[in-house]
Amino acid sequence: MEKVPLSKCLLNDEVKQAAMRALESGWYILAKECEAFERELAAHTGTKHAIVSSSLTAGMFLLHKAMGLKPGEEILVPSHTAFPSIEPMIHCGAKPIFIDIDETYCMDVELLEAAITPRTVGIMPVHLYGHPANMERIFEIARKHHLWVIEDCAQAQGAKYKGKTVGSMGVASGYSFFPSKNLTVMGDGGCICTNDDAIAEKIRMLRNHGRKDKYTHELIGYNLRMNEIQAAIGRVGLRHLDALNERRRAIAAHYNRRLKGIVKTPPEQSWARSVYHMYVIRSERRNELAKFLQQRGIGTGIHYPTANHQQPAVTKLYNDLPKLPKTEQAVQEILSLPIFGELSLNDVDYVCNSIEEFYGKK
Ligand SMILES: *Cc1c(COP(=O)(O)O)cnc(C)c1O
Repeated sequence: MEKVPLSKCLLNDEVKQAAMRALESGWYILAKECEAFERELAAHTGTKHAIVSSSLTAGMFLLHKAMGLKPGEEILVPSHTAFPSIEPMIHCGAKPIFIDIDETYCMDVELLEAAITPRTVGIMPVHLYGHPANMERIFEIARKHHLWVIEDCAQAQGAKYKGKTVGSMGVASGYSFFPSKNLTVMGDGGCICTNDDAIAEKIRMLRNHGRKDKYTHELIGYNLRMNEIQAAIGRVGLRHLDALNERRRAIAAHYNRRLKGIVKTPPEQSWARSVYHMYVIRSERRNELAKFLQQRGIGTGIHYPTANHQQPAVTKLYNDLPKLPKTEQAVQEILSLPIFGELSLNDVDYVCNSIEEFYGKK
């Protein structure tokens, strides 16, 4: 057992009671809990609709289908993100155009315009590690070139950009409830948020065999639904999300104070309110440091060790992949330290003491 794990799900009596309530209800798929979860998610994001699905990857695929993404079309997306950020578009035959990162690890907006071609249809910023991308500049460019913007909010539920909740700004946004995320359903789950009635309606049909009603299949759809037990658990997590995000911010501030001058700490822009899905430091001796911390019972992670434009599945597919110097450098040096809402500052101090020890300051 690790002394300090990298992350941990919220598991209290409320969660257990919610799961039992769903079990005993006799309804297991897309029923009352899912409907309530959708209403609560939409309210939290500040959008008209939230459509739950079996994962974010599934939801994003349905969103692309609902928006009519076509083979050959191009989407500007960071390479430095979870691999599933790019899978759904590729399944639709569209092509990810990989953009390098800035110092916040989000897409460098100054590189966007040069990457636009006549085939470009949209921009998909990823609010990585909980820090929002530079949305104002992204929208400026999107408007000028008639592109849509879809936000990947898997790591940033509740984060703010200039006071606006992420996921409420683009034509649609996606969330993941995978066990490592800030809000989890203790299984797979995800949702798409949007203000667009037609997109919402189409995703609802597509996720459930193209059904308009029980016996009418208006579209050839899929089975990418969410379960009631997952939704019931997610509803509890959502009630605690803002408080737990605040705790993450306090933990990050503590790390910042303790680690300043020892390692490169994660920046937060003045206009950003990050929810620190990950607390990511930089070290030129990253692998050694990770090993040292592991020996002290401290869980760490690398998000992610291989950039997507260098993944075998991608290099096999395209022969015109770009060089992304900042991304390629970052993946060598980044290290995610333990962070989750219930992590104690004592444990944070233990991690910081160990890092000081590694660098010979203690
Ligand atoms: C987790 C994650 C996904 C995938 O979410 P799933 O629910 O596991 O499909 C996509 N994008 C980012 C940035 C993620 O962190």
